[in-house]
Amino acid sequence: MTLMIICSKRLVRMLTLGRAVGITLFPFIIIVPELRHDPYVINHERIHLRQQVEMLVLVFYVLYFASLCWNLARLRNFMAAYLIVFFEREAYDNEYDLGYLGRRKAFASLGYAFGKKRAR
Ligand SMILES: [Zn+2]
Repeated sequence: MTLMIICSKRLVRMLTLGRAVGITLFPFIIIVPELRHDPYVINHERIHLRQQVEMLVLVFYVLYFASLCWNLARLRNFMAAYLIVFFEREAYDNEYDLGYLGRRKAFASLGYAFGKKRAR
């Protein structure tokens, strides 16, 4: 699949309320221009693309948002809540492994949701 990358600091700030350097909205990766060539940031976003495709996009957003809200209700801290969303845990755990997507099993993120993978 050809990556469709949009570089726009303004768009990233708007979509993430200034809290992130990139966001993946299938089929686009939207990223701040200075990180356009950062292989690890791109890998992180590519992991989200894979998660979105296998969850038929809409299911991904519903589960992501539900997980974020659940975590936020418990922790009362946005960054802490965001970092333990199971989709993020998979992406952060594997962003430095550039071969990860080649070996990744389908629905691997569910392993993080159901506690098979270590918590951060
Ligand atoms: Zn992420």
